[in-house]
Amino acid sequence: MSQREFELVKCDQCGFVFTQNAPPEAEIGPYYQSASYISHSDRKASLFEQLYHWARGRMLAAKRKLVQKVTSKKIGRVLDIGSGTGYFSAGR
Ligand SMILES: [Zn+2]
Repeated sequence: MSQREFELVKCDQCGFVFTQNAPPEAEIGPYYQSASYISHSDRKASLFEQLYHWARGRMLAAKRKLVQKVTSKKIGRVLDIGSGTGYFSAGR
């Protein structure tokens, strides 16, 4: 943890909450470096990690089906905001 605090701001109109004054792209990398951040790892050493990755695979498949159903398309382009590892839009 960086111990640095960031101000969160909530939009009065839609309720969307976002980080105010987030670091610029060139400085944000270190905030995402954590060996124990499970959703950014493919390690399956522990039972928990194995379950997590199994559940993630199921969730990504369910999301894919939902997008296909809503759009009536099997192939297309997707903008995945807050994409984490990018596995959803990569089709993994
Ligand atoms: Zn808003």
